[in-house]
Amino acid sequence: MASNRTFTMIKPDAFEAGNSGAILKMIEEAGFKIIAVKATQLTPELAGKFYEVHAARPFYADLCKYMSSGPIIAAILEKENAVEDFRTLIGATNPANAAEGTIRKIFAKSIEANAVHGSDSDENAAIEGSFYFSQFERIS
Ligand code: ATP
Ligand code: MG
Repeated sequence: MASNRTFTMIKPDAFEAGNSGAILKMIEEAGFKIIAVKATQLTPELAGKFYEVHAARPFYADLCKYMSSGPIIAAILEKENAVEDFRTLIGATNPANAAEGTIRKIFAKSIEANAVHGSDSDENAAIEGSFYFSQFERIS
């Protein structure tokens, strides 16, 4: 059975551009409940740990630098079929390929500075949520 939670980050480009409120509004209007949320900034080391799965990719060093370049918003979201529905809401990694009306189509600047993160599986949603939040910080 699909889990009902996913994890997201509003990335530095979208935070810096002042789009956090508009993005959170789209997320809520799509039916997601915000279970935990905080603004924070990653160090390059923590960004590297979060995206460790991409360590062998050519864009990894730039990704760590970019993800630690400014504040982000991290959040755990709840909705039926959360992981898949959220990936649909954010659109393709490269905004040039993202569907009309998706968050990345509207707000992303490039394939790297693509406005938001969305977990790609139930397992990773749980791991990534725990990376930022302890249980007592969440709504039950
Ligand atoms: P995310 O995991 O952030 O939700 P994603 O699952 O759509 O994004 P991944 O393949 O997991 O895409 O890549 C993680 C992130 O690495 C991308 O969101 C983007 O910021 C960056 N990235 C991915 N591919 C490239 C690339 N070819 N060039 C530069 N940056 C890239
Ligand atoms: Mg990914």
